[in-house]
Formats: sequence, structure tokens, C-alpha cells
Amino acid sequence: MPLPGGLVLPVNRPYKKEFSMSLAPVANSACTGCGICAEKCPAQAISHADPRVVDKSQCISCMRCVSICPHAARHPNRFIVWIAGLMIKKACRNRKTPELFL
Ligand code: SF4
Ligand code: SF4
Repeated sequence: MPLPGGLVLPVNRPYKKEFSMSLAPVANSACTGCGICAEKCPAQAISHADPRVVDKSQCISCMRCVSICPHAARHPNRFIVWIAGLMIKKACRNRKTPELFL
């Protein structure tokens, strides 16, 4: 899509979804059901009635619930985090030359 002034940026459209597995964190047995995570989730993905229930289609994987849980009870699936790490490593393997558009 041309920008004002006819500038065309080298982007890949349509954008492709690189990672389709969910990184939605789940609560473990340390969860007390206090509801802080449900209250603070920016995507309203955590059930207020039962904070152990997460709507994976709503979760944006921001990890806020992980960082604010007072009992360290929330974690994403370790295997999926490992897979995501491999994909990021592959994507960032080669140095990319920065381009400046004025
Ligand atoms: S903040 Fe932690 S302890 Fe409280 S409901 Fe959420 S996961 Fe459970
Ligand atoms: S990772 Fe972010 S969006 Fe997903 S459940 Fe936690 S706070 Fe909500």
C-alpha cells in the first residue's frame, strides 16, 4: 500500500501468522482463586468465576497474569515456549541490515 508521497515500503502482505500454537498461561495447584489475574488481564481472557479457565482465542500472550500472580501460579506451557524459542532463534539467526525511510 503506497504511503503519502508515493512511498512504498517493502513488506510481505498479507501478513502471515508465524506461530499458531497458544501461549496462554494456565494456573497450577498454587492458585488460590484470588481473581487478580482475571481483573488485570487486558484481553479479558481469564474467567472471573474461575480464574483457572482461560479463553485461548482471546489471550494475546502478554504474560501480565504471569507477572502479577502473587503465588507464581501461572505459567505458559514449557514445551510450547521451547518451540517458540527455536522459531525465534531461527528467524533471528541472520543479521538484517537496517533500512531507513525518510
Ligand atoms: S492471580 Fe494467581 S492465585 Fe490469583 S487467581 Fe490468578 S492464578 Fe490464581
Ligand atoms: S497472557 Fe495476557 S492476555 Fe493472556 S491470559 Fe494472561 S494477562 Fe490475559
